[in-house]
Amino acid sequence: MNKSQVEQVKKIKKLLSEKRKIVITTHNNPDGDAIGSSMALYHFLKKQGHKVDAIVPNMYPQFLAWIPGADKMIVYENKSAKSQALLAQAEIVFSLDYNAIHRTGSLADILLRTEAKKILIDHHIDPETDSFDHCISTVDTSSTAELVYNFIDQLGGLDLIDKPIAESLYAGIVTDTGSFSFSCNRKETFEVTANLISRGVDAQKLHRLIYDTFSENRLRLLGYSINNRMIVWEEFNTALIYLTKADLKKFDYRVGDTEGIVNYPLTMEKINQSILLTEKEKMIRMSFRSKGKFSVNDFVRKHFNGGGHMNAAGGKSFTTIDKTIDEIKKILPAYKKQLNYKLNYNS
Ligand code: 5GP
Ligand code: MN
Repeated sequence: MNKSQVEQVKKIKKLLSEKRKIVITTHNNPDGDAIGSSMALYHFLKKQGHKVDAIVPNMYPQFLAWIPGADKMIVYENKSAKSQALLAQAEIVFSLDYNAIHRTGSLADILLRTEAKKILIDHHIDPETDSFDHCISTVDTSSTAELVYNFIDQLGGLDLIDKPIAESLYAGIVTDTGSFSFSCNRKETFEVTANLISRGVDAQKLHRLIYDTFSENRLRLLGYSINNRMIVWEEFNTALIYLTKADLKKFDYRVGDTEGIVNYPLTMEKINQSILLTEKEKMIRMSFRSKGKFSVNDFVRKHFNGGGHMNAAGGKSFTTIDKTIDEIKKILPAYKKQLNYKLNYNS
């Protein structure tokens, strides 16, 4: 944490020195870090005597439902009046795991209108700092959950980290690092994790709860995606998987079922960029992953209305799947050189 962030935390500490009405928010299509970091902060602030509610724009996937307190989250899409009332009364709003208000989807309009102090805790590139009163933002931290741990530490609250808080934080770290396979080269991430284990986390059990709870349809959708819907452009070290609405229907799609599919093409040695296109009601949702030095954040920002991290980003396309694939095909040649590298032990 740099100097200015230490100053921010001091100011936040002062704000929290009285009992407050607090709302915790996170991004649309919430992932493990969104829910884990939100619930950890939720339990922590509640333990300090604040009135706390956590609002999520839309429903989280079922494999995150075990996160302690997740069942108490208010889903904006289902309870908009209640969410609006809570946000109207809130004195403080925490914004977790997103760098720009529009990332909260349907919640964005009321978030822009709230008079509450807005506090950002996030690890995405280029935060929209003007939208927040205080920003705790880094790009080299594994997850927002790790930032929340540090935040609790800075507030002198480590002793308040009990099993539910530790499990929530662990969920964020383990999912945002792909079970410690990326964004995990800082020793601090492991130190924090070790502390969470000493506070009651059963790492093996939580891993099973997150990763070993597929339905048969979800696993078959994964197989189908790779076998029937994957295009490999070896000359551009890129692979793409596309899923139509009909495909999703065929496998009785449930929220979260496409989670992780985008990572599989990267297991091919020659593939440095992987793209997943998912057909939604009004757009094509795009997920990008890379391994090594190619920045999918730059790529998506430039061409596909989105962003994220260097090796994981998301975007949107407002045309058909076929046209989106054609567009990608047209763009890729300009990146041929940038995408052509070999990962080896020395690089
Ligand atoms: P995913 O592919 O898992 O949906 O997203 C990968 C990463 O990119 C996540 O860290 C997510 O927060 C970020 N991301 C996803 N969609 C968008 C988007 O539309 N805009 C921006 N700025 N970031 C996104
Ligand atoms: Mn995150």
